[in-house]
Amino acid sequence: LLGADGRLAPTIFAEMTALATKTGALNLGQGFPDEDGPRAVLDAAKHAIDHGRNQYGPARGAQELIDAIIEHQRRFYGIGLGRGDVLATAGATEALAATMLAYLNPGDEVVVFEPYYDAYAAVAALAGAVLVPVPLAAPDFEPDIDRLQRATSPRTRMIIVNSPHNPTGSVFSEETMRHIIRVAERRDAIIVTDEVYEHLVYDEQHVPLASFDAARERLVSISSAGKTFSVTGWKIGWIMSTPERIAQISAVKQYMTFVNGAPFQPAVAVGLRLGDEHFDTIVASFARKRDILTRGLRKAGFTVHEANAGYFVLADAAPLGVEDAAELSRRLPELVGVVGVPLSAFARPSRRDLRSTMRFAFCKSDDTLHEAAARLAGLK
Ligand code: PMP
Ligand code: GLN
Repeated sequence: LLGADGRLAPTIFAEMTALATKTGALNLGQGFPDEDGPRAVLDAAKHAIDHGRNQYGPARGAQELIDAIIEHQRRFYGIGLGRGDVLATAGATEALAATMLAYLNPGDEVVVFEPYYDAYAAVAALAGAVLVPVPLAAPDFEPDIDRLQRATSPRTRMIIVNSPHNPTGSVFSEETMRHIIRVAERRDAIIVTDEVYEHLVYDEQHVPLASFDAARERLVSISSAGKTFSVTGWKIGWIMSTPERIAQISAVKQYMTFVNGAPFQPAVAVGLRLGDEHFDTIVASFARKRDILTRGLRKAGFTVHEANAGYFVLADAAPLGVEDAAELSRRLPELVGVVGVPLSAFARPSRRDLRSTMRFAFCKSDDTLHEAAARLAGLK
């Protein structure tokens, strides 16, 4: 995370995408699709641009987007929200940063589940907060509740939950969610839940934390359009919480981007209102992609952890005689023309158990994945 000068360094995703661009290797490093999302959503953005939606929009987000988010929560989860419960943001990234900066003071402790998405650690550092990782381990990557309990203290201000989880592809069980809520209650901590992969769940059921009544009063829920509609570059995200917390977080957000993505917000509203067919199709198609890559990696000699959700699969290179996946990641483009990222980028160096594992993205065309599988077979 931090460079030699103690400042934040370029993310592993930027570094690995630059490596893929430089070497012409297949980029299974950064999680973005190489195929477009639904035509109706893309056309809606063009329509918005052609019909004057090009200036600053309302501070909380375009009304159609707010209303579509409310409808979406009712349709998929039976959760009732009001207009004051929602804030549109520049992706989940800004949603996370604005929420963390709104609540964290220097010295506050933030519990995360490790491996963790890098932004949690980076923003905690920007806020002067102390990151407290609770390890998740193979094969199921579910947190040990005793360890979670022991990791908290009177200084615990926030617990960040990310289910479906990047990078492990796990989905926390309902029982785990209930334990997390109980621990948060005991410490009077805020729960921030990052659910950007909510619609990419293959073998399990996504249960949003907001569907647990006990969580409501301490919960900030975050999602975004990037994965659900394959528009990661649009950076439209949203926060759902109580009106009081939305007001506090908006106060921070207004000095980050103020507002963002004017023509993309109504287009995402169109996406959220698409028929069930879209949501069923993405699950089937990403599950197929996961299977293509999982088979390829297994054939190439990796030990692959079953991904139940998300964009990524974890592959342990230890059976190939690899100890350090960071080194393998740097060499993989020249060895076989494929880029992935080391799992160590999502954890502290003390996590020796994660050292030989890589994360590969399967959110790519079937052709790209078949080609990657063929190339990886050359590693043996
Ligand atoms: N959280 C997780 C777990 C992610 O994987 C990502 C990356 N795409 C984000 C947040 C950021 O989402 P966005 O692109 O909407 O900012
Ligand atoms: N979330 C994406 C990933 O995990 C990348 C986002 C980014 O580049 N910051 O690969």
